[in-house]
Amino acid sequence: MSTMLQVLRRETVGQKPAATTPESVVDFVLAQSHHRRDIPASDLADVPTMRYRYQRAEAVFHDVPIVSIDRVPFPLIARIILNMRCGYTCGIRDICHREGLPDEVACRDLSLTDLRRLAFVREALGLQVAKLIGVETTRLSVFCEYVREVKKLGFSSVTATCAIGVARRSIASLVAAGIDRITCSVHQFTNDVRNTIDALMMEADQLEVPVKLNWVLTQHNVADLSALIEYIGHRKLTARLFSLIRTSHLAAANNHEPLHWTDMADLFSHEIASVRVVDYTVSCRRRYLTTLRSGATLDLSVPLVAIQDPATIPPACATCNLKDRCEEGLLGCGVRMGPDGSYYSCLLRSELCTV
Ligand code: SF4
Repeated sequence: MSTMLQVLRRETVGQKPAATTPESVVDFVLAQSHHRRDIPASDLADVPTMRYRYQRAEAVFHDVPIVSIDRVPFPLIARIILNMRCGYTCGIRDICHREGLPDEVACRDLSLTDLRRLAFVREALGLQVAKLIGVETTRLSVFCEYVREVKKLGFSSVTATCAIGVARRSIASLVAAGIDRITCSVHQFTNDVRNTIDALMMEADQLEVPVKLNWVLTQHNVADLSALIEYIGHRKLTARLFSLIRTSHLAAANNHEPLHWTDMADLFSHEIASVRVVDYTVSCRRRYLTTLRSGATLDLSVPLVAIQDPATIPPACATCNLKDRCEEGLLGCGVRMGPDGSYYSCLLRSELCTV
């Protein structure tokens, strides 16, 4: 077992330049890591569904060899949203969280000036990976310019997340600009989708760039899950299985019944060879990086904020009434920079926004 060093340290605070405002994202993140101790009894709600998910997940991994257990405050990622105007449905309508941004923010385009401000935040918080969003609705040459700019900010890895068809036609340019990995949203497994992944993988193999798949589990695609797991075994790929992240626009429009991987674990639990566990202490989320005997990896999470000891959850979450549907947790996508250059720390509460 190994334990990662906490990135947020007292001395990090001392390194901040005097110009940092009290509302800066660095101050916000540091404040959330100082746990509150005096939680009113009225806030101690029990949430049986979330507790069941956690218990079910622990049961799945009870007899599985654990390779490592790491504890980090939150994913050390800068998620950079160039814009959020994407109209792709990735096969199934009304499942994309669209970053939970207000419409007036989602329609904007991130400026290079705002992007460059990220250099200090990266250094202060020890961020390692940059994920860029928005290739669907950004001219490819412009998107590549942002990739090159992010590379200069000192991230060890830069990735792009996009619809699979977009990845297929953009991959050569993205890799030439410096992208180190591509994550594709795939939420169904028709012959067409399979052929597109095959074509993408052929090019990705030639370019020597890894591809990861994201799959939101719903009643509409659960029948395809076995085929997906078999496919990623054949290709030695990683896939993350998400439960629906019910942002406000989805709560209004959505008719998909939420489904969680813990409900479907019988499909693959007998194939698990080992697991690496990561506890995100601020995000209150446990991540299981699950290696299957086929060589594929399933990236699985359970949210803990609703059931964790209230004295250990971040102040912003302590009185939040959305805990019973909170899947990612605070800073669960890392430090997210929106198209307006502000930082959005929660997918469900855009008002938790800092500069
Ligand atoms: S919805 Fe946001 S504020 Fe509420 S518990 Fe989840 S991460 Fe915390």
